[in-house]
Amino acid sequence: MFWKARTALLACWLILSFGLCEDSDKTIFRDIAIIGGGASGTYSAIKLHDQGKSVILIEKEEVLGGHTNTYRDPRTNTSVDYGVMVFHDQKVVKDYFKRLNVSWVITRPEFGSSTPNYLDPKTAKSIKFTNPDPTSALVAYATELSRYPKLEQGFFLPDPIPSDLLLPFGKFLEKYPGIANATFLAFNYGQGLGDYLKQPALYVFKNFGLDIIRDIASGFLIPASGNNYEIYAHATKILGSDVLLKSVVVDTPRRDEDGVQLIIRTPNGTRKVNANKLLITIPPKLENLNKFALDRHETKLFGKFMNTGYYTCLVNNTGLAQNFTSYSVSPDTQLNIPNLPGVYNIVPTAIQGVFDVKYGSPSTLPDSYVKSEIISYIKKLQAGGLAERVSGEPNFVAFKSHAPFELTVSPDDIANGFYKELYALQGYRNTWYTGAAFHTQDSAMLWNFTRAYVLPRLSD
Ligand SMILES: Cc1cc2nc3c(=O)[nH]c(=O)nc-3n(C[C@H](O)[C@H](O)[C@H](O)COP(=O)(O)OP(=O)(O)OC[C@H]3O[C@@H](n4cnc5c(N)ncnc54)[C@H](O)[C@@H]3O)c2cc1C
Repeated sequence: MFWKARTALLACWLILSFGLCEDSDKTIFRDIAIIGGGASGTYSAIKLHDQGKSVILIEKEEVLGGHTNTYRDPRTNTSVDYGVMVFHDQKVVKDYFKRLNVSWVITRPEFGSSTPNYLDPKTAKSIKFTNPDPTSALVAYATELSRYPKLEQGFFLPDPIPSDLLLPFGKFLEKYPGIANATFLAFNYGQGLGDYLKQPALYVFKNFGLDIIRDIASGFLIPASGNNYEIYAHATKILGSDVLLKSVVVDTPRRDEDGVQLIIRTPNGTRKVNANKLLITIPPKLENLNKFALDRHETKLFGKFMNTGYYTCLVNNTGLAQNFTSYSVSPDTQLNIPNLPGVYNIVPTAIQGVFDVKYGSPSTLPDSYVKSEIISYIKKLQAGGLAERVSGEPNFVAFKSHAPFELTVSPDDIANGFYKELYALQGYRNTWYTGAAFHTQDSAMLWNFTRAYVLPRLSD
């Protein structure tokens, strides 16, 4: 008996020392607690786990993946990605996919018909619009972009910040008219930026970078299965009990140079997490961080963020012809860039009768409002003869809000060094950050950023 008890005590001491144990009051001890299991959080958890660090990944949804939304049709078993679609053909992606045992192919994705309808987002009526050949404009755009090579790696801005980067993009286009013909393409690849022509050029540059231009020409990388959730299913398996799904932080009793203590609400009750370090990967809006005991400095910085709304859904019972494809253009705007809120585009999917609809807004909107706007838009298509009249309402097979999506600050804040101050938060109170607000809405670029600038300091 005595030997058994001694062995158990020794085992627990060893495990506690290596940060993997749960003590009797169910405290979880880890080297690093990671908040948010989307692109950046899951990547960080896998990399740190592989470096021998103990991690706990806390995700509020029932699956990992963040903006990755995959729908499986129960009748045909066909998978449709209606969130994240493609990845850059880059080493960081291939290394990650290899680690997760996900095989890939390089492809040039097609989004519906090559002769789409161009429709007014307000009336759903056809607009006379010719999609310009963007080739030479893309060269001109890339020339401007390459003046700021460090933007590809993060918010590494020249000092002082060039006034061009602060210009509303519409004004930037007036200054550099050679870029105009690339705008429609950039706008549609970079969906989610809200009021596109009013956003500082910096955010357009971050959102539609050189890597995208390169891959439009040479092809993007996707899982060979055509199912992006595979990435997260494999990661979930590797991480096992180091993932807490449907779980959120409800309190932060301690976050300082001695470590971090979090109280987590999980489906199995409340748990305490004691970690040496904290990595936050969720959109850092104040409403998302109000349980993390922010101090005045953090509150002031994060309080500056504004956000756009971006929504994606799959709809059937629309009356649309199987290859119906539409893009929004406004009749009376600069370069016909559509006014939002409104539908970006409608494209067919691999499931008969199911269409992918993307919707954007300059700020967060209630899901119920977005859904009613999409239904009303499809009914306008029916009334205008672009879809057949069908009995019953269009039906949402799947719907996801991705608000808050793009996090931005005002040109004045950018000019006054906001991003320097934001980056200076890394390590402050034993808390680190990654995710789109710290770089850009692009999985591969976030993995590069996290690998190069965040993980080395977390694992030292
Ligand atoms: C419709 C759509 C299509 C896209 N297509 C592409 C594409 O084709 N290629 C590409 O590279 N990028 C694409 N993106 C952008 C890409 O998804 C993002 O760059 C990337 O997901 C951002 O990663 P992240 O880690 O910052 O955030 P996310 O992936 O959003 O992860 C954040 C995670 O935190 C969780 N969370 C939020 N709040 C809490 C909380 N309080 N507690 C715990 N967890 C929380 C969320 O549920 C989420 O899982 C697309 C985005 C959208 C919306």
